[in-house]
Amino acid sequence: MTRDPRYDILFEPVKIGPVTAPNRFYQVPHCTGMGWLRPRMLAEMRGIKAEGGWGVVCTEYNSIHPSSDDLPHPSASLWDDSDIRAHRLMTDKVHAHGALAGVELWYGGIRTSNMMTREVALELDSFPNSAGNPFQSRRMDKTDIKTFRHWHKRAALRARDAGFDIVYVYATHGYLISNFLNPGMNNRSDEYGGSMKNRTRLVRELIEETKEAVGDRCAVAVRFSADERIGEDGVPIHGERRDMFEMLAEMPDLWDINIADYSLEMGVSRFVKEAPLEPYMDFVKSRTTKPVVTVGRFTSPDTMLSQVKRGIIDLVGAARPSIADPFLPKKIEEGRIDSIRECIGCNVCYSGDSIGVPIRCTQNPTMGEEWRKGWHPEKIEPKGSDSSVLIVGAGPAGLEAARALGERGYQVTLAEASRDLGGRVTRECALPGMSEYARVRSYREQELLEIANVAVYRESPLTVEDVMAFEADHVAIATGATWRKERFNGEAYVSVASPGTSPEILTPDDIMNGVAPKGPVLVYDEDGYYLGGVIAEKLQQEGLGVSIATPADNISDWAGKTSERWRVRTNLMKLGVETIVSHSLQSFDGETATLTCEYSGQEKPLAVGSVVMVTQRKPNDELYQELLGAVGGQAEKLSFTLKRIGDCEAPAIIAAATYAGHRYARELDTVVDTDEPLKHDRVDVGETSSTGAA
Ligand code: ADP
Ligand code: SF4
Repeated sequence: MTRDPRYDILFEPVKIGPVTAPNRFYQVPHCTGMGWLRPRMLAEMRGIKAEGGWGVVCTEYNSIHPSSDDLPHPSASLWDDSDIRAHRLMTDKVHAHGALAGVELWYGGIRTSNMMTREVALELDSFPNSAGNPFQSRRMDKTDIKTFRHWHKRAALRARDAGFDIVYVYATHGYLISNFLNPGMNNRSDEYGGSMKNRTRLVRELIEETKEAVGDRCAVAVRFSADERIGEDGVPIHGERRDMFEMLAEMPDLWDINIADYSLEMGVSRFVKEAPLEPYMDFVKSRTTKPVVTVGRFTSPDTMLSQVKRGIIDLVGAARPSIADPFLPKKIEEGRIDSIRECIGCNVCYSGDSIGVPIRCTQNPTMGEEWRKGWHPEKIEPKGSDSSVLIVGAGPAGLEAARALGERGYQVTLAEASRDLGGRVTRECALPGMSEYARVRSYREQELLEIANVAVYRESPLTVEDVMAFEADHVAIATGATWRKERFNGEAYVSVASPGTSPEILTPDDIMNGVAPKGPVLVYDEDGYYLGGVIAEKLQQEGLGVSIATPADNISDWAGKTSERWRVRTNLMKLGVETIVSHSLQSFDGETATLTCEYSGQEKPLAVGSVVMVTQRKPNDELYQELLGAVGGQAEKLSFTLKRIGDCEAPAIIAAATYAGHRYARELDTVVDTDEPLKHDRVDVGETSSTGAA
């Protein structure tokens, strides 16, 4: 297939100072949980994005000095010459596919307390650490500012020597340089504070000095916020930003535009849809002749086209769409738009950096596994035999296993009990704000239409006899999990029903099946991720009167890792849902739910008509157990190999299910060393003394 000529404009080269991007697809800097800790994994992953057609591929925030250390969040670094060698791994791979490599020079200031390096952070003033650590920064004197500029220049030179083509001055996201611009924070009385001219002095110096240092070979980009303060979504508070932008407009070679509210810029799909930055961009292109890039979780080529044609952007910025589908540009180029694996906006990718582990993606199970497992998002080994595979259950795990096995060329049968494919995503996507989660199903369903060797049977609940009679060579049980009515008290699953009563205790499955609870309702959340909040929102919208309680100190605590916790709680409060933290549910008699404080043990009675338990799930592994039981637990006696995958094996997030399905497909008929299932990217100390003596 060839590309639709309508999209030709997206494939035009764009000159950026001394370099030229081969097209308009621009992977902006995004964190990966790899950084300087895992350079080989990082290089391979970025290289694959270049292979997939991204004309510019940037690495993540790149610390210029040990006094900007973000661990446990792994940034990249340009501290010394070993960093040059590490980055070379990436730039070589990016260049091999004709793309440009970009690097964002970063200094955290107020954001970093430098727990690993133990250096003191430099800032405008002695400010408290904005990540909540009990450390303050040092007020920069003029010598510090000079030293800082020197570090920045040294890092720029190292970036050039590492082979980068675009070097950023990073003046947004609440880090040091942006704070100099901020009239609310910049309280300095010297030539770096006061007037706008003074507050922009540092960024102007950095642009000039970076150009002087590397501008003959590298483009200099500035990342800049289009608005001054966080306001209502879609209603920018520009403040002096337009004038400030005008003052700097022609200085860099490229503008990378962000906004003040990170939770909108990188918003989850529950609250933020495609292209949310457009209202903020209205003045940018008209005030500069330099190319402009911004993001918008662009997955639709038509939205990209429209943004370029209407003069909002020159380059289509993407982090998440490039994570979910590293081959998105190639698919547009080759006229394979239906094959784009669209991001669902869940921000599980961001959780890697939050936790300090390598990135993963719900839609793209190969993300982060390019180097250590050798997985490629678009290529997979051909089948290792002519054997046939039966997959039971078409949730995310079963669907992905069938798709990937089909790609490998196996004869696959996918049997699903219900009429709809998709399992949990099909059920969850009907809940408030969750519609984009359906993409986990629709991408795979679409791909399966093209794969003739996969037969899909709906409304086919399989029994042990069915599976035995099928005579497949391999059987994967992907039958998911069911929400429990009990809670886990730290030792065991226990009922909360008061003895002698039979109160209305429901689960998310009941709500998704359309059961209408008796109000008012207590949603009791021990899961801690998004579903408790979503169920509470749904029931509140139905006018039932909802309280949500959790033993954790935060509502939807784990959603902090995906940067949606703040929005979840704000939303619930706006809807009038009562939020109760640090309380566990002890009992419910049909009229009163008794909660106890996790700290004091004090009881808190709550008058409710029903309780929805969003606690834990029970694997639906009966079929698996019965199959094993039929041969006395001796799997080798079955005429097929038997595996359970996804939630049926161990209930977890959707990303774990797509990963499990993919892994099953990759590993079939391959020899896997279970002792060393993956390569380990870490500093290799080389040969050591054979005696082991220190
Ligand atoms: P996962 O997240 O692991 O993919 P899901 O719960 O999303 O799990 O999906 C499991 C799917 O398996 C559901 O669509 C369910 O209808 C289906 N299923 C469960 N038991 C059977 C069975 N015995 N035969 C066929 N399909 C089944
Ligand atoms: Fe999109 Fe979720 Fe994948 Fe991130 S993890 S790229 S938000 S689908």
